[in-house]
Amino acid sequence: MKKNKYRYTLRLAIDKSIYNYEKKQDLIDFVKKSKVSDVAFFINQEELSDSHITLKKAQELITEIDTISQPLKEMNVTISLNPWTTMNHSDRGLGIRSELDIKPMVSYQGVLSTSMACPGYVGWMEYISDVYAIYASIKPHELWLEDDFRHYKNAPFELGCFCEDHMKKYNAIAHSDLTREEFIKKMFTGEKNKYRDAYLQVARDEILKAASMIEEKVHKVSPNTSMGLMSSWPEIHALENRDWHKLLEVLSGPNTPAVSRPHLPAYNEVSTLQYARDFEKYTVATRTLIGNKHKIYPELENYMYSQYAKSNRFTQFQLETSSSVRADGLLMNLFSMMGVGIDKTYKYDELLAQSKEFADFMYQNGISIEDRDGIIIPMTQKVAKYKIGDGTLHGLMASQTQWLELLAIFGFATRPLDYTDQKFVNETIALTGNFLNTLSNAQITEMIQDNFVLLDGDALIILDNRNLLNLINADSIEVIQPRTGKQVYEQFDGLTLSGVKDSRITLQTHVGAYVKVHYLSDMPKESNAYNRYNELVGPATVANDKFYIMPVGEHEKYGWEGEYIDFREKDLKKCLNVSYLVDMYNCKAIFSGRKIIVSNWSMDTTDGINFKLDKPVSKISITYRDGSKVKNQIIDVSSHNNIYHADFKVPGLAVVYVECLE
Ligand SMILES: [Zn+2]
Repeated sequence: MKKNKYRYTLRLAIDKSIYNYEKKQDLIDFVKKSKVSDVAFFINQEELSDSHITLKKAQELITEIDTISQPLKEMNVTISLNPWTTMNHSDRGLGIRSELDIKPMVSYQGVLSTSMACPGYVGWMEYISDVYAIYASIKPHELWLEDDFRHYKNAPFELGCFCEDHMKKYNAIAHSDLTREEFIKKMFTGEKNKYRDAYLQVARDEILKAASMIEEKVHKVSPNTSMGLMSSWPEIHALENRDWHKLLEVLSGPNTPAVSRPHLPAYNEVSTLQYARDFEKYTVATRTLIGNKHKIYPELENYMYSQYAKSNRFTQFQLETSSSVRADGLLMNLFSMMGVGIDKTYKYDELLAQSKEFADFMYQNGISIEDRDGIIIPMTQKVAKYKIGDGTLHGLMASQTQWLELLAIFGFATRPLDYTDQKFVNETIALTGNFLNTLSNAQITEMIQDNFVLLDGDALIILDNRNLLNLINADSIEVIQPRTGKQVYEQFDGLTLSGVKDSRITLQTHVGAYVKVHYLSDMPKESNAYNRYNELVGPATVANDKFYIMPVGEHEKYGWEGEYIDFREKDLKKCLNVSYLVDMYNCKAIFSGRKIIVSNWSMDTTDGINFKLDKPVSKISITYRDGSKVKNQIIDVSSHNNIYHADFKVPGLAVVYVECLE
């Protein structure tokens, strides 16, 4: 059990020119009522950003914040700082001041930025670390690096830096003499190559160098300040070869481990079902790659602000589901960044106060990713290095979370894993093509031979590339794109799933290519692929005691959307011997021993709590939030074929904590 409490941090913008007595009182009241214990003041942010500011201006801003924060300090609230600019997020009509020694970034398409800094230029490294030393002078609790501390910038600029100095560095490492256009083409095309390696090596090194200079100067001025790292999508950080462990280690002082802010992927309200998938893809994946040595405070952001951007119910659900990654708290950006202060009509103080006791309980009793049971879903930060590129930048973006998203929303016990050459035996492992491609042939062989594996269409393509189809008793494949008039559906011939015989899943739309496998002998087929005349095209889903093959690739726009259907869910549950929820649509479950965290990511109330667990259970203890109170009930369970049922309805958008008693 963790002893500390779940922490609320309010990120807040102040503008001295409109900051008055009322705003000050509103802030104090809000902090008290909402149980906020840390306030992170923005510096030089968004609309009020003046691009890269001078050291003199930095000193002025920090002096204002220091004055404004005194009443909060007297309330034992810690004060942190969120400078909004490192390299800068995007161009907004402002240039770089001539007195600053900063060179502009150049995109892969040769676009010269007006305000974003070339991250390899030592002048910028000196400047940004000097500015951070000034920020450190008021001894903030945490001092954050914004999410612009990366090489991938908002569209249309995208990836940097390809300035003349950078091109010289890349060419020197690759022993080449290419123009930017020639270099980019080679870097983006085909398998791992020396041009991509040169870019990735430089990008990683310069981020670590800048981070190290900032850390050193900050901790010289304020040894007790913790550095914080904000981040966004794992696949764009993979494009700059981010070494999560090393970067957080470099930012840590002797007694101040760095903290991390992963992204919660919904600034505006989206459907909860979409959020359920994105949460796995971004938040769970980032936490997995970071590891458990650093505290995480995910980002709850309601930009453009007010209930017109997001309902309070959705905000509260985001807060409470942060327990799925056992967050240490939240970094909340709830009010306009133009310095207007607190808007009381949003009633966030009531919302935050209401959830606090339950958030503390979930934090103290929760399940860390490393302690989860279930299907192993490996991922690696090295994925962009090995991705088979199609000549475009987006062709290098590599998601490894398709199985994680699908299996989690189907209620399976999932165990995402930061892969660092671990060996597995007799486990259930879900493998995507992008991940599989980072392994050696020997590693692939071992992983498939020693375990039960789930393989998708993209994984089959990698097995074919590596001449390893023999591992699944096959010798060739044919990749058939969707909407080619060939395959249109797969049919679970003779099977009854969800009470429906011969059920079908589309192979025509909202899924990628169908990979037709030529097996060497007859295989146990779950389903077959058909054309529109109901004529057999080839085998579809195949499962035995060694593997489950779903021969469907990822669609570049729709991913696996077509697979989010009960027939796939039921067929997987028929074939996989792991723990999972039963007949609870859109509910996720995190299993660890006898603990289960159940979260309902839909609007519907469930009929009860039903789950498969290979342990004797006679009762379950259920802890949940009722208003602002944490309540507990002990309920008898009935069982049938290892599936337990408890009469406890889980409402939509709720999280409940279950302990299985003997
Ligand atoms: Zn550059």
